[in-house]
Order: sequence, then C-alpha cells, then structure tokens
Amino acid sequence: MIERLRIGLGVDTHRMEHGRRCVLGGIEFACTTGPVGHSDGDAVLHAVCDAVLGAAGLDDLGSQFRDTDPRHAGRDSSEFCREVQHQLAARGASLMSLDIVVEAETPKIGPKRAAMREHIANLFGITTDRVNVRGKTAEGLDAIGRGEAIRATAVALLAV
Ligand code: MG
Repeated sequence: MIERLRIGLGVDTHRMEHGRRCVLGGIEFACTTGPVGHSDGDAVLHAVCDAVLGAAGLDDLGSQFRDTDPRHAGRDSSEFCREVQHQLAARGASLMSLDIVVEAETPKIGPKRAAMREHIANLFGITTDRVNVRGKTAEGLDAIGRGEAIRATAVALLAV
C-alpha cells in the first residue's frame, strides 16, 4: 500500500518573563525566566500540535483550546498533545516524523534535547529517532536575541 503523506507547519512565539516556570517540550528547565501563557506556555509543544493538526487538516490549537477558557489555565501542554494524538488515531492517521527548531537565548536547549525528544515521541507513540529537536540563538538580535521571547517551529509528516 502506498501511504499518502501530508506535511504540516507550526510556529509559536511566547514572551519570556522572570519568575515563570520554564517548561519546553514537556521538560522543565532550570531558568530564571519562563514563557508567559494561559496554559504552561510550552511554545515547543504548541508548535508541535499546530504542525500535526495542520498536516491532518484539523482546526489549530488556539481554536480547539481557547486561551480564554479557564479549564486551560496553567494546563500541562502535554495534555494537548495527547488529545491531538487521539484525533489522529481516530482518523487512522499516523505521525511519521517531527522536526523542531527552538529559537531561544535562554535556556540552552542542548543539555535537555534528548529528554525532549523522548518525551515528545512518547506523547505521540512513536520512536525517538522520528523526533528531532535543536536549539538556535538569535545572536543578540531582536526580542529573541535579547531573551524577551522564545519561538518554536515544527514540521510534521503524517501518513494518512
Ligand atoms: Mg502558545
């Protein structure tokens, strides 16, 4: 059987603030700043969900889990991924791969890359080699370079 492949792109930017918990890709970082958000602010998982939903032709994360809904206040974004995975499974679609770039001045992504890959792979029931994560800095330029914001970009490949 020839699989039909679909590609999706997700991008998410969050403001970084002092005193916020810093959870990215479902992994906690020891950091003096963290992403501001209605949920836990995990820009990486938000970009991942949007990439997967985009590839599946489904409504984006913001429409499905509104940031005005008190049920999502402080919510663990891993739960959004599990819900997205249910939606995929219900359609007989499977995630083939995810490629993720995190643009941040702090925290440094490298030391927790492996843990992020493993956590995200587990959320979608795929092997770790199908999920890649890398960190980039913005060389001191713009809001990301000044450490005021963080941006995650994800590309998802689905077989449907
Ligand atoms: Mg977000």
